[in-house]
Amino acid sequence: MQADDRAVLLSGPDVGDLEQEYVLAALRSGWIAPVGPDLDRFEREIAERAGVPHAVAVNSGTAALHLALMGVGAGPGDVVVVPTLTFVATANAVMHAGATPVFADCDPATGNLDPGLLAGVLADLDAEGARVRAVMTVDLYGQCADYGRILPPCDRYGVPVVEDATEALGAAHAGRPAGSFGRAAAFSFNGNKIITTSGGGMLVTADERLADRARYLAGQARLPAEHYEHGDVGYNYRLSNLLAALGRAQLCRLDAMIERRRALHDGYAKIFAHVDGVSMLGGDDPAANRWLTAVVVDPDRTGWRARDLAVHLAARNVETRPVFKPMHRQPAYAHARAFLTGAAERLFADGLVLPGGSALGDDQVRRVLDEITEFLEGHQ
Ligand SMILES: *Cc1c(COP(=O)(O)O)cnc(C)c1O
Repeated sequence: MQADDRAVLLSGPDVGDLEQEYVLAALRSGWIAPVGPDLDRFEREIAERAGVPHAVAVNSGTAALHLALMGVGAGPGDVVVVPTLTFVATANAVMHAGATPVFADCDPATGNLDPGLLAGVLADLDAEGARVRAVMTVDLYGQCADYGRILPPCDRYGVPVVEDATEALGAAHAGRPAGSFGRAAAFSFNGNKIITTSGGGMLVTADERLADRARYLAGQARLPAEHYEHGDVGYNYRLSNLLAALGRAQLCRLDAMIERRRALHDGYAKIFAHVDGVSMLGGDDPAANRWLTAVVVDPDRTGWRARDLAVHLAARNVETRPVFKPMHRQPAYAHARAFLTGAAERLFADGLVLPGGSALGDDQVRRVLDEITEFLEGHQ
């Protein structure tokens, strides 16, 4: 058999016959946009998966986060605590709502919001009389934040959690699904996420009023009337029926895709298990969906840097990515307040995200693992 030397992407879309079938069926049914039976079913199916009663399909994860924040009342004059180690959309959603993000550092072992630090942040903000409207958690790379330790301080100060579960569909924590921990949560179906609608998102919540309000705002805040009547300044955030059909096909395959990503993660873990100075971000969490796998390299112990492995793999057509650059280091958020321990900075400096796509063929997976092994043998 010929070696498969196609480019290995970090997380490419994984679509096939089933997706074609579902999208064609929606197209032929005439339910193109905006509403239709696939949209309603997709919402029900995602709600079920997240273990909550309500879901509102929207056209991006960012839109879902924005609506979730508005749903907990975040607006001008309010503070929202945001993990500094995240994709920029988490913080942007706070700005879209007109509130102010205050960044908090992460647990060095998982990259998720540091629960011990959070308790102190909430105490400090409370003492200052700040109006803290929400704490956002991010289930980074598909591993749930430590809700057992995050929810108690939030409850103590009466601050709702908004869960950025955009990377975590299908993951769980203490037997509960990702998306069920916050007052509201957001999923993303962007092209690189674990399932995709080519672009899309979903707000999920147990709060019926929050869901109704989000649905209303997402549809240009249109009120029931024969003419166009609008009660608020709304948004054009709705997902189309055609894209929901794509999402439904992807959802049928979610468990198999998670299984494949977990196997890939375990393959990496096996290779690095005997390398002193390399650890797997998040450690051994069987309930993570393993959207992406990141390793952390201690150059003092390995004698090489994460960047060296990235260069080695790039030369062999294998895509990697640094761990997210912390928000407090982004030009867009340079002036925001941040409670820091240095953990996110270190993960940015020493972390490397490895390819995790479920569409990778067996030959490609073997090639990636072989290239890493070759690098490690050359750096002993
Ligand atoms: C992908 C992502 C988002 C935004 O989702 P979009 O669908 O791209 O708008 C938000 N937060 C995090 C952590 C993400 O990874």
